[in-house]
Amino acid sequence: MTDLSPDQLRHEALLLVPDATLTPEGPRDLHAVVVRDGTFLDVGPTERIVRTYPSLTPVRLPGHVLMPGFVDAHHHLTQGFGGALAFGEPSEIFRRVWVPLEGALDEESAYVAAKLAALESLRGGFTTVAEAGTRAAVDVDVVASATRDAGIRCVLGLVCNDASDGTDEDTDPHTVLSAAEKHLARYGSDDLVHPSLAVSVPEAATTGTLAATARLAAEAGRVVQIHVNEHLVAVERSLVRQGLRPLEYLHHAGALGPQLLAAHATLLTPSEVTLLADSGAAVSYNPVASAWKGNAVAPATTFAERGIRFGLGTDGTRGDGFRLADAAEFAQRLGYGLASGDSSCGAGWTWLDRATAGGADAAGLGRLTGRVTVGAAADFLLVDVTGPEMQPSWDRPWELVRRGNRDQITAVFVAGRLRLWRGWPLDWDGPGLVRRAAELAPQVVRRARITRTHPTSAAVWPQGRDGGR
Ligand SMILES: [Zn+2]
Repeated sequence: MTDLSPDQLRHEALLLVPDATLTPEGPRDLHAVVVRDGTFLDVGPTERIVRTYPSLTPVRLPGHVLMPGFVDAHHHLTQGFGGALAFGEPSEIFRRVWVPLEGALDEESAYVAAKLAALESLRGGFTTVAEAGTRAAVDVDVVASATRDAGIRCVLGLVCNDASDGTDEDTDPHTVLSAAEKHLARYGSDDLVHPSLAVSVPEAATTGTLAATARLAAEAGRVVQIHVNEHLVAVERSLVRQGLRPLEYLHHAGALGPQLLAAHATLLTPSEVTLLADSGAAVSYNPVASAWKGNAVAPATTFAERGIRFGLGTDGTRGDGFRLADAAEFAQRLGYGLASGDSSCGAGWTWLDRATAGGADAAGLGRLTGRVTVGAAADFLLVDVTGPEMQPSWDRPWELVRRGNRDQITAVFVAGRLRLWRGWPLDWDGPGLVRRAAELAPQVVRRARITRTHPTSAAVWPQGRDGGR
Protein backbone atom coordinates (compact mmCIF):
# COMPACT_ATOMS: atom_id res chain seq x y z
CA MET A 1 0.00 0.00 0.00
CA THR A 2 1.15 3.54 -0.65
CA ASP A 3 -0.02 7.01 0.29
CA LEU A 4 0.14 8.06 -3.35
CA SER A 5 -2.40 10.70 -4.31
CA PRO A 6 -3.64 11.74 -7.75
CA ASP A 7 -2.51 15.33 -7.17
CA GLN A 8 1.09 14.13 -7.34
CA LEU A 9 0.42 12.89 -10.87
CA ARG A 10 -1.35 15.90 -12.35
CA HIS A 11 1.58 17.96 -13.58
CA GLU A 12 2.74 19.01 -17.03
CA ALA A 13 6.08 17.31 -16.39
CA LEU A 14 6.52 14.18 -14.28
CA LEU A 15 9.47 12.13 -13.10
CA LEU A 16 8.06 8.75 -12.09
CA VAL A 17 10.00 6.15 -10.13
CA PRO A 18 8.17 2.80 -10.07
CA ASP A 19 9.59 -0.46 -8.72
CA ALA A 20 9.80 -1.77 -12.27
CA THR A 21 9.15 -0.50 -15.78
CA LEU A 22 8.06 -2.72 -18.64
CA THR A 23 10.29 -1.58 -21.51
CA PRO A 24 10.40 -2.96 -25.08
CA GLU A 25 13.42 -5.01 -23.92
CA GLY A 26 11.50 -6.51 -20.99
CA PRO A 27 10.89 -5.55 -17.35
CA ARG A 28 13.58 -3.37 -15.78
CA ASP A 29 13.96 -2.74 -12.06
CA LEU A 30 14.96 0.74 -10.88
CA HIS A 31 14.02 2.38 -14.17
CA ALA A 32 12.42 5.82 -14.08
CA VAL A 33 10.58 7.79 -16.76
CA VAL A 34 10.19 11.48 -17.50
CA VAL A 35 6.90 12.56 -19.07
CA ARG A 36 6.61 15.95 -20.73
CA ASP A 37 4.33 17.37 -23.45
CA GLY A 38 2.42 14.10 -23.64
CA THR A 39 5.42 11.93 -24.46
CA PHE A 40 8.20 9.99 -22.75
CA LEU A 41 11.06 12.48 -22.71
CA ASP A 42 13.43 10.01 -21.09
CA VAL A 43 13.48 6.42 -19.82
CA GLY A 44 16.41 4.88 -18.00
CA PRO A 45 18.14 3.91 -14.75
CA THR A 46 16.64 5.89 -11.87
CA GLU A 47 19.96 7.24 -10.68
CA ARG A 48 20.79 8.80 -14.05
CA ILE A 49 17.28 10.16 -14.60
CA VAL A 50 17.09 11.81 -11.18
CA ARG A 51 20.53 13.36 -11.71
CA THR A 52 19.67 14.63 -15.20
CA TYR A 53 16.39 16.36 -14.24
CA PRO A 54 17.11 18.15 -10.92
CA SER A 55 14.18 20.55 -11.42
CA LEU A 56 11.66 17.69 -11.28
CA THR A 57 10.57 16.17 -7.97
CA PRO A 58 10.69 12.37 -8.28
CA VAL A 59 7.32 10.74 -7.58
CA ARG A 60 8.09 7.43 -5.87
CA LEU A 61 5.68 4.62 -6.78
CA PRO A 62 6.47 1.77 -4.37
CA GLY A 63 4.72 -1.49 -5.19
CA HIS A 64 3.96 -0.39 -8.74
CA VAL A 65 4.91 -1.53 -12.22
CA LEU A 66 4.77 1.06 -14.98
CA MET A 67 3.69 -0.62 -18.21
CA PRO A 68 2.34 0.44 -21.62
CA GLY A 69 -1.43 0.87 -21.84
CA PHE A 70 -3.27 -1.93 -23.63
CA VAL A 71 -4.33 -1.43 -27.24
CA ASP A 72 -7.68 -2.87 -28.30
CA ALA A 73 -7.13 -3.64 -31.98
CA HIS A 74 -10.82 -4.26 -32.69
CA HIS A 75 -13.80 -2.61 -31.06
CA HIS A 76 -17.33 -1.39 -31.87
CA LEU A 77 -17.89 1.50 -29.48
CA THR A 78 -21.46 2.30 -30.50
CA GLN A 79 -22.51 -1.23 -29.58
CA GLY A 80 -21.94 -0.23 -25.96
CA PHE A 81 -25.60 -0.69 -25.04
CA GLY A 82 -25.72 -4.26 -26.42
CA GLY A 83 -23.56 -6.35 -24.10
CA ALA A 84 -25.30 -9.56 -23.13
CA LEU A 85 -27.92 -9.21 -25.90
CA ALA A 86 -25.50 -11.19 -28.07
CA PHE A 87 -24.83 -13.97 -25.55
CA GLY A 88 -25.74 -17.43 -26.81
CA GLU A 89 -26.45 -16.21 -30.33
CA PRO A 90 -25.20 -18.18 -33.33
CA SER A 91 -22.79 -16.56 -35.78
CA GLU A 92 -23.34 -13.35 -37.79
CA ILE A 93 -24.89 -11.57 -34.82
CA PHE A 94 -24.44 -8.28 -36.67
CA ARG A 95 -27.44 -9.02 -38.86
CA ARG A 96 -29.87 -9.69 -35.99
CA VAL A 97 -28.48 -7.58 -33.13
CA TRP A 98 -25.78 -5.06 -33.99
CA VAL A 99 -27.04 -3.45 -37.19
CA PRO A 100 -30.59 -2.95 -35.77
CA LEU A 101 -29.17 -1.67 -32.46
CA GLU A 102 -26.83 0.84 -34.10
CA GLY A 103 -29.61 1.83 -36.49
CA ALA A 104 -31.78 2.88 -33.54
CA LEU A 105 -29.18 5.28 -32.13
CA ASP A 106 -29.62 9.02 -32.39
CA GLU A 107 -26.90 11.56 -31.78
CA GLU A 108 -27.15 11.59 -28.00
CA SER A 109 -27.49 7.84 -27.55
CA ALA A 110 -24.62 7.17 -30.00
CA TYR A 111 -22.42 9.56 -28.01
CA VAL A 112 -23.37 8.02 -24.68
CA ALA A 113 -22.98 4.43 -25.94
CA ALA A 114 -19.52 5.20 -27.34
CA LYS A 115 -18.40 7.07 -24.23
CA LEU A 116 -19.67 4.26 -22.01
CA ALA A 117 -17.62 1.76 -24.01
CA ALA A 118 -14.61 4.10 -23.86
CA LEU A 119 -14.91 4.34 -20.07
CA GLU A 120 -15.09 0.56 -19.76
CA SER A 121 -11.98 0.31 -21.95
CA LEU A 122 -10.03 2.82 -19.85
CA ARG A 123 -11.02 0.99 -16.66
CA GLY A 124 -9.69 -2.20 -18.24
CA GLY A 125 -6.35 -0.55 -18.93
CA PHE A 126 -6.80 0.23 -22.62
CA THR A 127 -5.30 3.53 -23.67
CA THR A 128 -6.10 3.03 -27.39
CA VAL A 129 -9.07 1.46 -29.14
CA ALA A 130 -9.42 0.72 -32.85
CA GLU A 131 -13.07 1.47 -33.58
CA ALA A 132 -14.16 -0.59 -36.59
CA GLY A 133 -16.76 1.86 -37.92
CA THR A 134 -20.23 2.59 -36.64
CA ARG A 135 -23.39 1.77 -38.59
CA ALA A 136 -25.33 4.42 -36.65
CA ALA A 137 -26.80 7.10 -38.92
CA VAL A 138 -24.82 9.88 -37.24
CA ASP A 139 -21.71 11.80 -38.18
CA VAL A 140 -18.75 9.66 -37.11
CA ASP A 141 -17.47 12.79 -35.37
CA VAL A 142 -19.98 11.97 -32.58
CA VAL A 143 -17.83 8.91 -31.81
CA ALA A 144 -14.66 11.03 -32.07
CA SER A 145 -16.09 13.46 -29.50
CA ALA A 146 -17.09 10.63 -27.16
CA THR A 147 -13.59 9.12 -27.15
CA ARG A 148 -11.85 12.50 -26.91
CA ASP A 149 -14.08 13.54 -24.02
CA ALA A 150 -13.48 10.21 -22.28
CA GLY A 151 -9.73 10.67 -22.76
CA ILE A 152 -8.88 7.54 -24.74
CA ARG A 153 -6.90 7.35 -27.98
CA CYS A 154 -9.03 6.16 -30.90
CA VAL A 155 -8.31 4.81 -34.37
CA LEU A 156 -11.62 5.88 -35.83
CA GLY A 157 -13.00 3.83 -38.71
CA LEU A 158 -15.36 5.27 -41.32
CA VAL A 159 -17.51 2.61 -43.00
CA CYS A 160 -16.90 2.61 -46.78
CA ASN A 161 -19.34 -0.10 -47.88
CA ASP A 162 -20.74 0.39 -51.39
CA ALA A 163 -22.23 -3.06 -52.09
CA SER A 164 -25.22 -4.53 -50.40
CA ASP A 165 -24.35 -7.32 -47.98
CA GLY A 166 -27.98 -7.91 -47.18
CA THR A 167 -28.13 -5.18 -44.54
CA ASP A 168 -27.55 -2.03 -46.62
CA GLU A 169 -28.58 -0.43 -49.89
CA ASP A 170 -25.94 -0.18 -52.61
CA THR A 171 -24.15 3.15 -52.49
CA ASP A 172 -22.47 5.21 -55.18
CA PRO A 173 -18.71 4.45 -54.94
CA HIS A 174 -17.79 8.08 -55.75
CA THR A 175 -19.78 9.30 -52.74
CA VAL A 176 -18.12 6.68 -50.52
CA LEU A 177 -14.59 7.48 -51.69
CA SER A 178 -15.01 11.22 -51.43
CA ALA A 179 -16.24 10.78 -47.84
CA ALA A 180 -13.23 8.52 -47.21
CA GLU A 181 -10.80 11.19 -48.42
CA LYS A 182 -12.45 13.85 -46.27
CA HIS A 183 -12.37 11.57 -43.22
CA LEU A 184 -8.66 10.80 -43.67
CA ALA A 185 -7.91 14.55 -43.76
CA ARG A 186 -10.26 15.47 -40.92
CA TYR A 187 -8.26 14.84 -37.75
CA GLY A 188 -4.83 16.09 -38.78
CA SER A 189 -4.08 18.04 -35.62
CA ASP A 190 -6.04 15.89 -33.18
CA ASP A 191 -4.05 14.53 -30.24
CA LEU A 192 -6.24 11.49 -29.65
CA VAL A 193 -8.27 10.76 -32.80
CA HIS A 194 -6.59 8.96 -35.72
CA PRO A 195 -8.73 8.41 -38.82
CA SER A 196 -9.05 5.04 -40.50
CA LEU A 197 -11.26 3.45 -43.14
CA ALA A 198 -13.43 0.38 -42.67
CA VAL A 199 -15.33 -2.15 -44.73
CA SER A 200 -17.66 -4.42 -42.75
CA VAL A 201 -16.78 -7.59 -44.67
CA PRO A 202 -15.06 -7.96 -48.06
CA GLU A 203 -18.37 -8.64 -49.83
CA ALA A 204 -19.77 -5.30 -48.56
CA ALA A 205 -17.64 -3.36 -51.05
CA THR A 206 -17.01 -3.62 -54.78
CA THR A 207 -13.53 -4.65 -55.93
CA GLY A 208 -12.90 -1.11 -57.16
CA THR A 209 -13.73 0.39 -53.79
CA LEU A 210 -11.69 -2.24 -51.90
CA ALA A 211 -8.68 -1.31 -54.04
CA ALA A 212 -9.32 2.44 -53.73
CA THR A 213 -9.73 2.40 -49.94
CA ALA A 214 -6.50 0.37 -49.68
CA ARG A 215 -4.67 2.96 -51.80
CA LEU A 216 -6.12 5.98 -49.97
CA ALA A 217 -5.26 4.55 -46.54
CA ALA A 218 -1.75 3.50 -47.62
CA GLU A 219 -1.06 7.00 -48.99
CA ALA A 220 -2.29 8.58 -45.76
CA GLY A 221 -0.37 6.14 -43.53
CA ARG A 222 -3.63 4.82 -42.09
CA VAL A 223 -5.33 1.42 -41.89
CA VAL A 224 -8.42 -0.18 -43.41
CA GLN A 225 -10.33 -2.33 -40.92
CA ILE A 226 -12.19 -5.32 -42.40
CA HIS A 227 -13.76 -8.38 -40.76
CA VAL A 228 -12.12 -11.32 -42.52
CA ASN A 229 -12.79 -15.09 -42.46
CA GLU A 230 -14.64 -14.92 -39.15
CA HIS A 231 -17.63 -17.20 -39.68
CA LEU A 232 -18.02 -20.37 -41.72
CA VAL A 233 -21.20 -19.03 -43.34
CA ALA A 234 -19.33 -15.93 -44.58
CA VAL A 235 -16.45 -17.99 -45.99
CA GLU A 236 -18.92 -20.25 -47.79
CA ARG A 237 -20.97 -17.33 -49.10
CA SER A 238 -17.81 -15.80 -50.55
CA LEU A 239 -16.88 -19.11 -52.18
CA VAL A 240 -20.33 -19.36 -53.76
CA ARG A 241 -20.40 -15.73 -54.98
CA GLN A 242 -16.78 -15.08 -55.89
CA GLY A 243 -15.23 -18.52 -56.14
CA LEU A 244 -12.74 -17.25 -53.56
CA ARG A 245 -12.51 -17.19 -49.79
CA PRO A 246 -12.78 -13.68 -48.25
CA LEU A 247 -9.04 -13.22 -47.70
CA GLU A 248 -8.30 -14.55 -51.20
CA TYR A 249 -10.89 -12.13 -52.54
CA LEU A 250 -9.13 -9.19 -50.84
CA HIS A 251 -5.89 -10.34 -52.45
CA HIS A 252 -7.64 -10.57 -55.82
CA ALA A 253 -9.03 -7.02 -55.34
CA GLY A 254 -5.58 -5.59 -54.54
CA ALA A 255 -6.64 -4.81 -50.96
CA LEU A 256 -4.20 -7.08 -49.11
CA GLY A 257 -1.24 -5.10 -47.85
CA PRO A 258 0.34 -3.48 -44.77
CA GLN A 259 -2.59 -1.03 -44.57
CA LEU A 260 -5.05 -3.87 -43.85
CA LEU A 261 -6.14 -4.52 -40.28
CA ALA A 262 -8.02 -7.81 -40.66
CA ALA A 263 -10.33 -8.51 -37.74
CA HIS A 264 -10.58 -12.14 -36.60
CA ALA A 265 -8.92 -14.13 -39.44
CA THR A 266 -9.94 -17.30 -37.63
CA LEU A 267 -10.74 -19.65 -40.52
CA LEU A 268 -7.51 -19.73 -42.51
CA THR A 269 -6.11 -22.27 -44.92
CA PRO A 270 -2.31 -22.74 -44.90
CA SER A 271 -2.14 -20.76 -48.15
CA GLU A 272 -4.08 -17.88 -46.61
CA VAL A 273 -1.57 -17.80 -43.73
CA THR A 274 1.12 -17.43 -46.39
CA LEU A 275 -0.90 -14.66 -48.08
CA LEU A 276 -0.96 -12.76 -44.77
CA ALA A 277 2.75 -13.29 -44.21
CA ASP A 278 3.72 -12.24 -47.74
CA SER A 279 1.47 -9.17 -47.85
CA GLY A 280 2.48 -7.58 -44.54
CA ALA A 281 -1.19 -7.30 -43.53
CA ALA A 282 -2.01 -7.16 -39.81
CA VAL A 283 -4.59 -9.14 -37.85
CA SER A 284 -6.62 -8.42 -34.74
CA TYR A 285 -6.68 -11.74 -32.86
CA ASN A 286 -9.93 -11.69 -30.87
CA PRO A 287 -9.91 -14.71 -28.53
CA VAL A 288 -12.93 -13.76 -26.40
CA ALA A 289 -15.01 -13.17 -29.53
CA SER A 290 -14.00 -16.66 -30.71
CA ALA A 291 -15.16 -18.18 -27.44
CA TRP A 292 -18.44 -16.29 -27.33
CA LYS A 293 -19.56 -16.33 -30.94
CA GLY A 294 -16.99 -17.78 -33.31
CA ASN A 295 -16.32 -20.87 -35.34
CA ALA A 296 -12.60 -21.08 -34.62
CA VAL A 297 -9.58 -19.57 -32.87
CA ALA A 298 -7.06 -17.68 -35.01
CA PRO A 299 -3.70 -19.53 -35.19
CA ALA A 300 -1.90 -16.73 -33.36
CA THR A 301 1.17 -18.71 -32.25
CA THR A 302 1.63 -19.58 -35.92
CA PHE A 303 1.22 -15.88 -36.80
CA ALA A 304 4.01 -15.05 -34.36
CA GLU A 305 6.25 -17.76 -35.82
CA ARG A 306 5.54 -16.70 -39.41
CA GLY A 307 6.20 -13.01 -38.73
CA ILE A 308 2.58 -12.00 -39.28
CA ARG A 309 1.78 -8.70 -37.60
CA PHE A 310 -1.00 -8.94 -35.05
CA GLY A 311 -2.52 -7.39 -31.94
CA LEU A 312 -5.36 -8.39 -29.63
CA GLY A 313 -8.93 -7.16 -29.90
CA THR A 314 -12.03 -7.38 -27.74
CA ASP A 315 -14.62 -6.96 -30.53
CA GLY A 316 -16.67 -5.24 -27.83
CA THR A 317 -17.00 -8.40 -25.73
CA ARG A 318 -15.52 -6.97 -22.53
CA GLY A 319 -13.11 -4.11 -21.99
CA ASP A 320 -10.52 -5.74 -19.80
CA GLY A 321 -6.90 -5.80 -20.98
CA PHE A 322 -5.62 -8.36 -18.50
CA ARG A 323 -8.45 -10.80 -19.17
CA LEU A 324 -7.90 -10.31 -22.91
CA ALA A 325 -4.19 -11.17 -22.67
CA ASP A 326 -5.07 -14.17 -20.50
CA ALA A 327 -7.72 -15.30 -23.01
CA ALA A 328 -5.20 -14.91 -25.84
CA GLU A 329 -2.85 -17.39 -24.22
CA PHE A 330 -5.63 -19.67 -22.95
CA ALA A 331 -7.28 -19.98 -26.37
CA GLN A 332 -3.94 -20.85 -27.99
CA ARG A 333 -3.31 -23.53 -25.39
CA LEU A 334 -6.74 -25.11 -25.81
CA GLY A 335 -6.93 -24.63 -29.56
CA TYR A 336 -3.39 -25.61 -30.53
CA GLY A 337 -0.98 -26.11 -27.61
CA LEU A 338 -2.72 -29.11 -26.05
CA ALA A 339 -2.85 -30.99 -29.35
CA SER A 340 0.85 -30.47 -30.06
CA GLY A 341 2.15 -30.63 -26.50
CA ASP A 342 3.26 -26.98 -26.64
CA SER A 343 3.22 -26.04 -22.96
CA SER A 344 5.03 -22.75 -23.60
CA CYS A 345 2.60 -21.44 -26.22
CA GLY A 346 4.09 -17.96 -26.52
CA ALA A 347 5.96 -18.02 -23.19
CA GLY A 348 3.73 -15.43 -21.56
CA TRP A 349 5.54 -12.36 -22.82
CA THR A 350 4.09 -12.81 -26.34
CA TRP A 351 0.59 -11.99 -25.14
CA LEU A 352 1.60 -8.92 -23.17
CA ASP A 353 3.63 -7.67 -26.13
CA ARG A 354 0.76 -8.27 -28.58
CA ALA A 355 -1.74 -6.64 -26.21
CA THR A 356 0.37 -3.45 -26.29
CA ALA A 357 3.04 -2.86 -28.98
CA GLY A 358 1.60 -5.46 -31.37
CA GLY A 359 -1.83 -3.87 -31.27
CA ALA A 360 -0.41 -0.39 -31.79
CA ASP A 361 1.50 -1.61 -34.84
CA ALA A 362 -1.54 -3.45 -36.25
CA ALA A 363 -3.68 -0.31 -35.85
CA GLY A 364 -1.12 1.84 -37.68
CA LEU A 365 0.20 3.58 -34.54
CA GLY A 366 3.37 1.56 -34.01
CA ARG A 367 5.58 4.63 -34.04
CA LEU A 368 3.29 6.57 -31.70
CA THR A 369 2.20 4.30 -28.87
CA GLY A 370 2.29 0.83 -27.30
CA ARG A 371 5.78 1.08 -25.80
CA VAL A 372 7.50 2.81 -22.90
CA THR A 373 10.33 4.32 -24.89
CA VAL A 374 11.78 7.78 -25.52
CA GLY A 375 9.69 9.78 -27.97
CA ALA A 376 6.57 7.58 -27.74
CA ALA A 377 3.25 8.95 -26.50
CA ALA A 378 3.01 8.63 -22.71
CA ASP A 379 0.13 6.12 -22.78
CA PHE A 380 0.73 3.95 -19.73
CA LEU A 381 -0.59 2.27 -16.59
CA LEU A 382 0.56 2.20 -13.00
CA VAL A 383 -0.19 -1.33 -11.79
CA ASP A 384 -0.18 -2.25 -8.11
CA VAL A 385 1.64 -5.55 -7.63
CA THR A 386 1.60 -5.73 -3.84
CA GLY A 387 -1.33 -8.18 -3.56
CA PRO A 388 -1.07 -11.91 -2.82
CA GLU A 389 -1.87 -12.75 -6.46
CA MET A 390 1.35 -11.07 -7.59
CA GLN A 391 3.74 -11.96 -4.76
CA PRO A 392 6.22 -13.51 -4.62
CA SER A 393 7.21 -12.64 -8.16
CA TRP A 394 9.27 -14.96 -10.34
CA ASP A 395 8.17 -13.98 -13.84
CA ARG A 396 6.46 -10.59 -13.91
CA PRO A 397 5.25 -10.51 -17.56
CA TRP A 398 3.69 -13.97 -17.34
CA GLU A 399 2.19 -13.15 -13.94
CA LEU A 400 0.56 -10.07 -15.44
CA VAL A 401 -0.92 -12.19 -18.24
CA ARG A 402 -2.22 -15.01 -16.07
CA ARG A 403 -2.95 -13.31 -12.76
CA GLY A 404 -3.24 -9.61 -13.51
CA ASN A 405 -6.54 -7.88 -12.86
CA ARG A 406 -7.96 -4.46 -13.67
CA ASP A 407 -8.50 -3.81 -9.95
CA GLN A 408 -4.71 -3.48 -9.72
CA ILE A 409 -4.65 -0.48 -12.07
CA THR A 410 -4.03 2.55 -9.87
CA ALA A 411 -3.73 5.08 -12.70
CA VAL A 412 -4.30 5.29 -16.45
CA PHE A 413 -2.41 7.92 -18.47
CA VAL A 414 -3.11 8.83 -22.08
CA ALA A 415 -0.91 11.35 -23.89
CA GLY A 416 0.80 12.14 -20.60
CA ARG A 417 -2.39 13.08 -18.76
CA LEU A 418 -3.87 11.23 -15.81
CA ARG A 419 -7.26 10.06 -17.12
CA LEU A 420 -8.39 7.51 -14.50
CA TRP A 421 -7.57 7.14 -10.86
CA ARG A 422 -8.56 3.79 -9.31
CA GLY A 423 -11.08 3.14 -12.04
CA TRP A 424 -12.80 6.50 -12.36
CA PRO A 425 -12.11 9.73 -14.26
CA LEU A 426 -11.08 12.80 -12.31
CA ASP A 427 -12.03 15.44 -14.90
CA TRP A 428 -15.56 14.36 -15.79
CA ASP A 429 -18.54 12.60 -14.25
CA GLY A 430 -18.09 8.85 -14.88
CA PRO A 431 -20.90 7.62 -12.61
CA GLY A 432 -23.22 10.23 -14.19
CA LEU A 433 -22.48 8.81 -17.63
CA VAL A 434 -23.23 5.26 -16.45
CA ARG A 435 -26.59 6.46 -15.04
CA ARG A 436 -27.50 8.22 -18.31
CA ALA A 437 -26.59 5.08 -20.29
CA ALA A 438 -28.87 3.02 -18.05
CA GLU A 439 -31.74 5.42 -18.87
CA LEU A 440 -31.14 5.56 -22.62
CA ALA A 441 -30.25 1.92 -23.38
CA PRO A 442 -33.73 0.41 -22.79
CA GLN A 443 -35.30 3.09 -25.04
CA VAL A 444 -32.84 2.33 -27.85
CA VAL A 445 -33.25 -1.43 -27.53
CA ARG A 446 -37.05 -1.05 -27.62
CA ARG A 447 -36.80 0.98 -30.87
CA ALA A 448 -34.37 -1.48 -32.50
CA ARG A 449 -35.79 -4.51 -34.27
CA ILE A 450 -33.49 -6.99 -32.62
CA THR A 451 -34.04 -10.68 -33.28
CA ARG A 452 -32.62 -13.06 -30.73
CA THR A 453 -32.66 -16.83 -31.07
CA HIS A 454 -31.50 -17.56 -27.53
CA PRO A 455 -33.44 -16.75 -24.36
CA THR A 456 -31.67 -15.06 -21.45
CA SER A 457 -30.17 -17.33 -18.84
CA ALA A 458 -32.75 -15.99 -16.36
CA ALA A 459 -35.52 -17.23 -18.68
CA VAL A 460 -34.10 -20.73 -18.93
CA TRP A 461 -33.12 -20.97 -15.26
CA PRO A 462 -34.33 -24.39 -14.04
CA GLN A 463 -37.46 -23.73 -11.96
CA GLY A 464 -38.48 -25.81 -9.01
CA ARG A 465 -35.57 -28.22 -9.26
CA ASP A 466 -35.65 -28.63 -5.50
CA GLY A 467 -39.38 -29.40 -5.59
CA GLY A 468 -40.31 -25.81 -4.73
CA ARG A 469 -38.95 -26.07 -1.21
ZN1 LIG B 1 -16.16 -6.78 -35.15
